[in-house]
Amino acid sequence: MSKSLEDKNQMGLQLVDVNQKNYQKKQIDESQYIQISEDEQGGDQAILISSKQDNKKICFQIKKVYRNTLDFLKKYSKQTIGVVSVIFSILVLASYFSLKEKCPYDSDHTCLKQFIFPKLFVWICKVLFNSLATVIQFHILISKSTYTLIPAYGFLQSFYLFIFNDNTINLHYYMGGINAIHIIIIAFLLLVYGLIRIWVACFKKYKWICFFGNLSVILTVLILFYYQSILHGCDYWTKGINGQIESQQSSCNILLPKYCWYKITHQWQDLSLLFPTCENASTSQNQKLKIDQFFSPYVNSSQFIAFKNLNSIPEKNRTDEEIQATAFRQSKGYSSLEQAFNDQYDVVFDRKEQKYHIDVQFNKTLSEERKKIANENPSKPLSKNILIIFIDAISRQSMHLKLPKTVEWFEKRSRMHSYVPENKQSEEDKKKSQSFEFYKYNSLKPYTYDNLQNLMYGQYVRDVEVSEEEKLVSIVEDIKQKGYVTGHSSDQCQTLSLSFDYETFGLINSSRYDHETQSYACDPNFQDPESKFGLFQGPYSIVRRCLYGKTMAEYPLDYAKSFFKKYKDNQKFMHLEFSYGHEGTGEVINYLDDPLSRFLENMTDEGLLKDTTVILLSDHGLHMQGIFYLLQLKNVFIEINLPGLFINIPPELNEKYGDQIALNQQSLVSVKNLHHFIKQIIVGEEYENYKQSLFNHLQFQKQCHDIGVFDSGNCSCK
Ligand SMILES: [Zn+2]
Repeated sequence: MSKSLEDKNQMGLQLVDVNQKNYQKKQIDESQYIQISEDEQGGDQAILISSKQDNKKICFQIKKVYRNTLDFLKKYSKQTIGVVSVIFSILVLASYFSLKEKCPYDSDHTCLKQFIFPKLFVWICKVLFNSLATVIQFHILISKSTYTLIPAYGFLQSFYLFIFNDNTINLHYYMGGINAIHIIIIAFLLLVYGLIRIWVACFKKYKWICFFGNLSVILTVLILFYYQSILHGCDYWTKGINGQIESQQSSCNILLPKYCWYKITHQWQDLSLLFPTCENASTSQNQKLKIDQFFSPYVNSSQFIAFKNLNSIPEKNRTDEEIQATAFRQSKGYSSLEQAFNDQYDVVFDRKEQKYHIDVQFNKTLSEERKKIANENPSKPLSKNILIIFIDAISRQSMHLKLPKTVEWFEKRSRMHSYVPENKQSEEDKKKSQSFEFYKYNSLKPYTYDNLQNLMYGQYVRDVEVSEEEKLVSIVEDIKQKGYVTGHSSDQCQTLSLSFDYETFGLINSSRYDHETQSYACDPNFQDPESKFGLFQGPYSIVRRCLYGKTMAEYPLDYAKSFFKKYKDNQKFMHLEFSYGHEGTGEVINYLDDPLSRFLENMTDEGLLKDTTVILLSDHGLHMQGIFYLLQLKNVFIEINLPGLFINIPPELNEKYGDQIALNQQSLVSVKNLHHFIKQIIVGEEYENYKQSLFNHLQFQKQCHDIGVFDSGNCSCK
């Protein structure tokens, strides 16, 4: 044996000596092995044996260190877990604050494309780490693995960060949204953790009885409650107010889902149930301070704040980014309500009572001017009044599911299967108003802008440069030129829902209505100027929207009613917009049904909807699908392309065109056809593009490419 080998062997033996008690047998085996090898294999083999021997010794040492470490950890486990907990707290802190990044761009669209999307993966990893670390802290805390204060601090730190630290969501910061994702994931992980603990405890005690017992309870509950809705959940899906989606041979056949998850999970995510109703929500001192903060510089301490109609201010002050500050700046203080109304302000806020007064002020000059235009117009409009109710992001199916009372208003005025040519109306039926539902109304893209630009401007431009003269002009200008008085209101602090921002500013002229108001929607207690996209407040809130003890939707509805009353004798066009569908749970829309259906019923009862074409539409299905998107549920991606379109026409229009419009209920139609429909109403029979309008049987629109939809992902046909 060489010297070095001998030394090493010696060293090995010494090491073995140290652990003699435990490893005596092994040492003997090893000595024998070396001896045999040396005699029989010669010198080279001895080196090989020596290296094998070395490896064994290294392994042996590693095992020893490992064992010692374990012994140490066992002995000092409390301290060790304490250190781990502290490290987690520090890492969570660092990871959380690294999520606070500012978007450097000036529009939502660019921020989404160039800032959020590229960072999303890293953000999600950080959020997952933070959530997991928080749940581990919780486990350490309740399993009493270390000194209570250490994990308690870690858990409370996360609690503070994710709930209270910073819930800003505006154009540049998104912490409120990131916090919400933290909370959702932690809640889910805690639920799983709790279930595992219960199951483990149960299993230890009752073994397999527990396993099968639990399984049978869960299955029984599922079968009892959801058997019907899972198996028959799609029964409603094809149905409508006067029939159902019909399949046709040579044209678009709508894709049908197997499971209809919006129906199965209806109200599951309704977080509003955890909050008081709008009527019971108390007004706080904070709300008064907020009004002082944003209005006092312009109205001092006046009790009444009057809101100017912003239809004549420069375009740059009407963008989505500027409109709220403009509304504050243009407000005027009054000491009495009468004085403000006398000065022709439609909306006045009473600071003392914390209440909005809405009373559209009749403009005699405007009324007479428009009457004159209407009288001098050689071609008569097809309908005296038009009322458009736009709801963002809700499918036709979800309108039936979430807005049953509103849909019922249309249903009560419809005839079954009116779309079948043989089923023409009797003379008696023609003397009534008639409702239609468009079963194959396909969105152009699952975004608001693309659809509404086609509705309001008749065409689509995006990401191009146009000169001032080439900017698109709104249909509202045509409507005014035909002698209509126009009005607009919504639950959003915008001139129009289609986003008039830094990007679109260069492509379109904003729609300017004779009577328009953003006042209540721009109220700082509704849309927080510092956090415009709040999760629990404002137009994107995931809980019901309230303002001073009233449901938000009631404000624009009151405004529309007042407008209809004041201009009773004029031709009028009223455009209402709601963003109740624009949020991730898909449940806030439930709270629009009552006020909207009540509005339609009251307006009908008071005779205000006489001679009025009522159009209820959306632009696309739910496109912020939250949990449904994560689960990649098929019906969600079908419904996103199938918004709702309901139209009720007055008797005189029905008599002439009812049967013709009815045929299009089973045609593939888009918002462009609705644009031409509105134009034909205001222009009259001589409308040049009548072939594109819903008045004309659109049989030539057979497949998605016929309506300008070329991406199969945006098409609802098979
Ligand atoms: Zn939309």
